[in-house]
Amino acid sequence: MIPFNKPFLIDKEFEYIQDAINQGVLRGDGIYTKKCHEFLEKKLNCKKALLTHSCTAALEMAAILLDIKPGDEIIMPSYTFVSTANAFVLRGGVPVFVDIREDTLNIDENLIENAITEKTKAICVVHYAGVSCEMDKILEIAKKYKLPVVEDAAQALGSFYKEKPLGTIGDLGCFSFHETKNVISGEGGALIINDPKYIERAEIIREKGTNRSQFFRGEVDKYTWVDIGSSFLPSDMVAAYLFSQLENMDKINKKRMEIWQNYDEFFSRYDGKIRRPYIPNNCKHNAHMYYVLFKNLAERTQFIDYMKSNGINPVFHYIPLHSSPAGIKYGRVSGDMAVTDRVSDTLVRMPMYYTLSDEELSSIKSFITKEGTEFENF
Ligand SMILES: *Cc1c(COP(=O)(O)O)cnc(C)c1O
Repeated sequence: MIPFNKPFLIDKEFEYIQDAINQGVLRGDGIYTKKCHEFLEKKLNCKKALLTHSCTAALEMAAILLDIKPGDEIIMPSYTFVSTANAFVLRGGVPVFVDIREDTLNIDENLIENAITEKTKAICVVHYAGVSCEMDKILEIAKKYKLPVVEDAAQALGSFYKEKPLGTIGDLGCFSFHETKNVISGEGGALIINDPKYIERAEIIREKGTNRSQFFRGEVDKYTWVDIGSSFLPSDMVAAYLFSQLENMDKINKKRMEIWQNYDEFFSRYDGKIRRPYIPNNCKHNAHMYYVLFKNLAERTQFIDYMKSNGINPVFHYIPLHSSPAGIKYGRVSGDMAVTDRVSDTLVRMPMYYTLSDEELSSIKSFITKEGTEFENF
């Protein structure tokens, strides 16, 4: 049985959790949360990093920080996880879905300008599979129309666009430490603030709308309710687990890259029957995901069923947001969604996790190449 994903320990997770308990602080913003903030700020060379309990929470904070009001439009891909859209819909915003590129499966930067109206308030890009969107073009459009850019970098910790870490290129960046991502804490996330004008308010929103962070720093003499907000911060126990993972993030991404390259080399023999991931020259990715694209839904279904019958669990995603019940209700499309619809029907993600062994990889490959299988004639 080879699952799609497996949570793992890398190093000192238990030791740090024990230490956090010994220090007597398990609420949010304890010593391990601070260590994670400092680590991320240094590693990503960004102005401010704030841990959240999920990337969903970081996206919700971004929507509040951008003052999204009912009727405001936010341009985004339809081929993404629900939280990209939901975070803005919770503020009354209207997702405006734009199709993706054939090659990277990222939002097609050439379709963005056409989706802009006087109601547009932001552009939210998603770096699919940890491979960067075409950020130069996107920032150029954003600048021309004075729109903030949010990076849903949930999958992209440790990835770069032209030497710049993803998540630090737009005004705000959002990371996920969900157990299916590269660096994990079960559930977890971070908001990266690249435009310093958002820092003070972000701390307030994250602390239930109070100026508690300023109070702890001695900047105000009492703390009180000053803005809208919620409890977006994780327990220091989660941060302790995360800190051990962050310290090892290069090691984690290196191991995933070996698995990624192993898959890529293997699947190259099927070129023409399937399509493998495309990585633009100006992008360095973090091996978040290994996917292949089949010719049609029937072949993909056949492949997944065949692998499952052998105890191996590849998965597909996403059901496009633009045609989902909530997407129809709360959003609208700009242009046609042909690539999104096709990719949604034909993409398969292969098992990918830090502890995936050489034996497991060999076993996956041997089921695919086995003579006399359904897979042979695909
Ligand atoms: C995983 C993911 C999210 C949500 O992350 P959580 O930490 O589970 O909230 C959002 N957007 C994208 C693109 C993701 O892959």
